[in-house]
Amino acid sequence: MSDEVKKGGISVETEHLFPIIKKWLYSEKDIFLREIVSNAVDAITKLKRLCSLGEATVDESEPYRVTVFVDKKSGTLTVKDNGIGMTEEEVDRYICQIALSGALEFIEKYETPADGEKSGTNESGIIGHFGLGFYSAFMVSDQVELVTKSYTGAPAVDWICNDAGSYEVKKSDKEDRGTSVIMHISDEEKAYLDPDKIKGILNKYCMFMPVEIYFVDENAPKPKKKKDKDKDKEEEDDSEKPVNTTEPLWLKPASACTDEEYIDFYHKVFNDYREPLFWIHLNADYPLNFKGILYFPKITNEYESLEGQVKLFYHQVFVADNIKEVIPEYLLMLKGVLDCPELPLNVSRSYLQDDAYVKRVSDHIVKKVADKLNSLCKNDREKYEKVWGDIRTFVEYACLRERKFYDRVKKSILFMKTDGKCVTADEYLEAAGNPEKKNIYYTTDKALQAQYISLYDAQNIAVVELNHPIDTQFVSTLEGYETESGIHFLRVDAETDALKADTEAKIDDKVKEKLTELFRKVSKNEKLEVTYTTMKDESVPAMLVVSEQSRRFEDMMKMYSSMGMGGNDGFPVEYSLHVNLSSALISKLISLEDSDTEKAEFMASYLYQLAVLAQRKMTADELQAFLSSGFDLLGKL
Ligand code: ADP
Repeated sequence: MSDEVKKGGISVETEHLFPIIKKWLYSEKDIFLREIVSNAVDAITKLKRLCSLGEATVDESEPYRVTVFVDKKSGTLTVKDNGIGMTEEEVDRYICQIALSGALEFIEKYETPADGEKSGTNESGIIGHFGLGFYSAFMVSDQVELVTKSYTGAPAVDWICNDAGSYEVKKSDKEDRGTSVIMHISDEEKAYLDPDKIKGILNKYCMFMPVEIYFVDENAPKPKKKKDKDKDKEEEDDSEKPVNTTEPLWLKPASACTDEEYIDFYHKVFNDYREPLFWIHLNADYPLNFKGILYFPKITNEYESLEGQVKLFYHQVFVADNIKEVIPEYLLMLKGVLDCPELPLNVSRSYLQDDAYVKRVSDHIVKKVADKLNSLCKNDREKYEKVWGDIRTFVEYACLRERKFYDRVKKSILFMKTDGKCVTADEYLEAAGNPEKKNIYYTTDKALQAQYISLYDAQNIAVVELNHPIDTQFVSTLEGYETESGIHFLRVDAETDALKADTEAKIDDKVKEKLTELFRKVSKNEKLEVTYTTMKDESVPAMLVVSEQSRRFEDMMKMYSSMGMGGNDGFPVEYSLHVNLSSALISKLISLEDSDTEKAEFMASYLYQLAVLAQRKMTADELQAFLSSGFDLLGKL
């Protein structure tokens, strides 16, 4: 190469490239650093390969490394590698032609013709804006310089290009092998000269790249060397530690990973000080060929956001978080990493959604999650029961979203009984010992429904707790899935069938009629349905029973309205009063009706109030009336 300076310009047809790159991808500008650092890493990987093939020899004593320098004073951000480097001819081919046409092709594909400048936001663009390449440096720079020396020993080259697309190529006196990309950060993007910001980006995108990456803040005071006697304790220089881990845990075979390593990895990657509940190491062979680790996080309280974080990588390069095109949306409640080197990332998201490979990856992950739950339930029930409280919302939600997932895990869905023990639906029904009736009784509020629960307890009928907002929808969906087997969920106040005595007490129709009238009067509800049952338990004189279906509907409406999705708060729930003929108080009420109507009315009113109290929270008026009845009663002592 002669000493002359060669000038060039990006051709006319490409002249709109630079302004587009500058304005483009506004929210994702950070990715330029990922692109430049991955090029540096690739350059080293290529050289390593050439060496291993015997096609290149390098000085083995110099370790391979990428260094990122921030120099606020001179306004530059530099990425330096000691990789393969380029000759002048290669710069022309790879940078002026290939990289440029790559960037152009990328932009043409994703540019929105309507506004002519800005393409995809996160929703419509390609995932993580992968593949823009070298020219993405112009998103933040008004001049990019590339100084490079090929491993072949060819003369070093200095290529400088401004943001209008004109460049100069001249000889460089660079002596060491490799490439430095020096980005002269533009005035508007000065934030990219902030060392913390750059460290943050490296941490996010480059944390697991396969070559050591170092960070140097050129303006930071150099750590002083201490006097000789303290030599051993010499302060460590941050730039002496790589910012990345070159061998992420997911690449190791599961059999070689310890629990401690999994937990450490979790703490580090998700900045979550808590321990994960358990995890799944994914290692799908050809043709899926992807690896990853999925963690079930601990949820401290029910109000905590259930949004997890699944990080997608491509050959150890971070692409983006929570890509729902690749991972079923309900699995995004988990935390984890997925490295999918086969993923076609430079296609549009809508294409990914229909891609057969992506579908198979997603199916594989779902299957592995279900397998893990089943094996824990089967082989480590104690641990499974311990974590069930934390994972149940996830499992229920996943079942709601996908029938196939439900079918896979249905034998591992647990229900917590009021005595604190857990059972599967099959275990519950087996213990109930009534093959015709597949009823599972539940409570939504142990305290509020305590009286009903005690009636079931007394009959040795187990009651399970379903007290999460999602439960109503879950059991309805489960019944829908199980129409053939006929499982039915009933809240403890939904009927009294299971509580009935074997023989029914006799009562005259006229007496019934009078009593019904009386209860309608004291409840101020002319249409109150009153039924007469003979329960095994004699202690409860009357109870309110609410229709399971109408109550569920109301619960659903309440949930929708609390989520701001409309819904009707005032939907009337169908309920009836079940009068227990085996109760001595009811016998007394019947006899009072004949002898002292005033007392009978007071008693019926009080019994009704007690029934309301046992079933739900009273309204302010009801409570007022109930209290004054109580005071009246005390006055009569
Ligand atoms: P891609 O990396 O996807 O091929 P880029 O636009 O990022 O596209 O880069 C184009 C080409 O420029 C690369 O394929 C490579 O040959 C060359 N290149 C870029 N950066 C470097 C580097 N640091 N060292 C050596 N070659 C590089």
